[in-house]
Amino acid sequence: MEKTNNITIIGGGILGISIAYFLSSIIKNKSILVIDQAPTVAYHTSSRNTGKVHAPFLYDPEKKKLFAKAASMGFEMWETYAKIKNLPFKRDGVLEVATDEKGIERLEKYKRWGEINGLKKDELQLLDNTEVSKMEPEVKCKKAIYCTKDGSVDYGAFTNALANDAKANGAAILLETKVTKISHSDDFIKIDTLNHDTIKTKFLINAAGGQAIDIAHHADVAKNLTDIHFRGEYWEAGSEYKDLTKVSVYSVPKHSQYPFLDPHWIVRADGRREIGPNAVPVTSPYAYDFQSNLKSLFPKIIEILGSGARKVIFDPQFLSLASEEFLSSLSKTVMINRVREFLPKIKPSAFKKRGTAGIRSSVVNENATFVPDAVLKEGPMSFHILNYNSPGATGALPFSVYVIMQMHEKGILQIDDTPNKCGPWNFHDIAENITM
Ligand SMILES: Cc1cc2nc3c(=O)[nH]c(=O)nc-3n(C[C@H](O)[C@H](O)[C@H](O)COP(=O)(O)OP(=O)(O)OC[C@H]3O[C@@H](n4cnc5c(N)ncnc54)[C@H](O)[C@@H]3O)c2cc1C
Repeated sequence: MEKTNNITIIGGGILGISIAYFLSSIIKNKSILVIDQAPTVAYHTSSRNTGKVHAPFLYDPEKKKLFAKAASMGFEMWETYAKIKNLPFKRDGVLEVATDEKGIERLEKYKRWGEINGLKKDELQLLDNTEVSKMEPEVKCKKAIYCTKDGSVDYGAFTNALANDAKANGAAILLETKVTKISHSDDFIKIDTLNHDTIKTKFLINAAGGQAIDIAHHADVAKNLTDIHFRGEYWEAGSEYKDLTKVSVYSVPKHSQYPFLDPHWIVRADGRREIGPNAVPVTSPYAYDFQSNLKSLFPKIIEILGSGARKVIFDPQFLSLASEEFLSSLSKTVMINRVREFLPKIKPSAFKKRGTAGIRSSVVNENATFVPDAVLKEGPMSFHILNYNSPGATGALPFSVYVIMQMHEKGILQIDDTPNKCGPWNFHDIAENITM
């Protein structure tokens, strides 16, 4: 007889796997299945990112309270996990630089936000240009924030390790299985897949990253929302720049409503130096190259024209910013010049190889507004995590506990009150902290 899983998670990225890890630790004797279309876990965005464990000074403590909290807790949690699993975690710090007066105002705001979000005084310092020059002689700016609590990691490796832990707890992971349709009966959900038999489940969790909106629509949820995808591209620096700076250097976003547009100077966990990402509008969450971008062009245009995103793509400011991003995709020099504003020594000729691009999917509502935060939606026998963007990898562990607690509070999932040990953590301690 066909088996019905208790809980099925669509998405084997860092979020889906973190949820599977905690669920499999605290709920015994229940079958938990993760489905992913890719050949490995963390195949998409969870391995295609900047690899930073972000300090929470960039997040408004009012408007992005949950992400700020998750980032703050995530730092300690990943640091502990990396130690146990012997995975790289470099607490190497970051400089956030301002090159004009508007930027300085922003830095002052970030300093206040950082302190409210729990960073200690010695972890977050505002430096003038002389202090910056002493610390990083090649960096040119008017002022900068130096945050010591910022790390460099490999999130793909973290997700793989966590997936092994979830499997050891009894969770199953089914790869190369693309979900194509979701339908409901009275007491279970039927999941049709492209290359596997139909899967039955009592409860579905949608953690499908760039396709989470599509999966939600399949389940008749969040029909008022759509998404726009942005490809973040990188260029790898030659070895002559390996000692150019000690720390990663970010610049204050030029457009605060689009904080993901400004490429950075990145020091990776394995020592590579890169610049990126930009944010080029593309047609799908997997449009890494020209062919896949072209393949999804017409369906995406039709989807956008019938949604709130229609107004966004015809907005003059969006069009002007998008054309700058296209230019920086076509021209290496344009891209490098954006970072030269604060690191004038770098030359395009030293960047010979493109890095690994990753795609961000930003949710747009019916009023043509980009939704700033993650969106959690409940459906019949299902729960959907949408718009789970940066600092999504940093906050994935505590955010997963938050998601589980939301389902518990809505009566969807029963969790007992006894302390539950999950690896080096206690589930209820994390839950109490993240929901505070
Ligand atoms: C360029 C870039 C840089 C970033 N840098 C950072 C950073 O430095 N630090 C940080 O904290 N965050 C960063 N982020 C954000 C972070 O990487 C993401 O928030 C995080 O990886 C999202 O994880 P996820 O599990 O939700 O999504 P994903 O990793 O995309 O996982 C979703 C999974 O769902 C699967 N899936 C989708 N549809 C289906 C289907 N129909 N059937 C079966 N499977 C399906 C996909 O195959 C995929 O594996 C960055 C993001 C980008 C784009």
